[in-house]
Order: sequence, then structure tokens, then C-alpha cells
Amino acid sequence: MIKVEKHLPPKIIQKLQDQQKKSGSRQFRVVSEIFEALKNEFHNKCAYCETKFKNNSFGEIEHFKPKTVYSDSIYDWNNLLLVCSACNMRKSKRFPINNNKMPLLVNPVIDNPEELFTYNTKGYMLPKPDLSNNEKRKAEITIHLIGLNRKELVGRRKLILTNLINIQRTEQDPKKTGKKIREQLNELTDDGEYLAYLRYIKTLLRR
Ligand SMILES: [Zn+2]
Repeated sequence: MIKVEKHLPPKIIQKLQDQQKKSGSRQFRVVSEIFEALKNEFHNKCAYCETKFKNNSFGEIEHFKPKTVYSDSIYDWNNLLLVCSACNMRKSKRFPINNNKMPLLVNPVIDNPEELFTYNTKGYMLPKPDLSNNEKRKAEITIHLIGLNRKELVGRRKLILTNLINIQRTEQDPKKTGKKIREQLNELTDDGEYLAYLRYIKTLLRR
């Protein structure tokens, strides 16, 4: 999961918000402007697991705070995420909060996931060490509730590392190996799949 800096909402959001205030409706209208804007904001990948939307998967609009309970946040731009169906199904309407009514779930638009999560070489996502008790709980609940260590995700992350190790095996010249791997990791951009995991690998190589 990576931090996503959102831009200004598309103009239609204000219009829909005004309409909602007048009508008191709890229905969310999916309009193409919102969908397209979210696709850009989230680099065409899932806000939670960073799987790219390919072929027939377009992503689903997720209300971080469920719209059934938090009707005031239906068109709150920071409350709208674009996620894959596997994450959306698990997250569903769930929204755990602590005793101070603060969310126990990481929102990549509001929180900085890279301050809360780390990974291991087996492809697993973990809470970072040295977090406060509340942050640790929030990180653990997020991983568990959204299934961020589900088998296919762990497998895909692990494959990234395996592929990099294979470069090392096939290249005879160690100088060239390092260069090749560094080149791959230096080309990281926000729209890359599983970017947080690639950044984690990059920190391993610096050691
Ligand atoms: Zn996902």
C-alpha cells in the first residue's frame, strides 16, 4: 500500500453533494467523471493491495467510511477509493474504530501506509516495528480485514524478488548484476504494481 496524494475533486462532486443535501438521499451515484478521476488518482491500481486493473477488471468505488452509516461522507473525496473486487469483498461495510472513535483501518489517502507497514522476503506485509500500540493494532487489523496477506498477493510479491534474484543468477559479471537490479528499482514510479514491496526490496539492497 502506498500513500496517495489526492488532487481536487472533479466538479461533479460538489453538484452531487448539493443534490444530496437537498434530497437527503443515501444513494451514491456512480458517474463516469468520478470513476475516471479515481482511476487517475490511484494510478489504475487497487488503493489497498496495489494490484493493477487489467483486462476486464476496472476497479470498484469503495467508501472507506461505509455510506450506510456515514451518509455525510458519501461524496467526501478523501472517503472515495478505487479498489479491486477481492479487497472490496473483504472490506465490505466493515469499519472498525477504537475507543476514541478513530478508525482502526488505514486509509492510503489520509494515512501514510509506508510509515505503518513493512514487508519480508517471503512476500508478507507486516506492521512496522516500533509503532505505538494503537498504530500496531490499526496496521494488524488492516492486513487481516482486507486480506493483504492472501495467498495470491504474497505469491506475486515473492515473485518480484525471485525475478530479481534470477537476474543475479544469470548474469556472470557481479558489477552488471547490481547495475541491472538498480536500474529496475530506480525506474519505480507511482503507477508500478506492488510499488511498496519494490521500495522495501530497494531498502534491503542499500544495507
Ligand atoms: Zn486490492
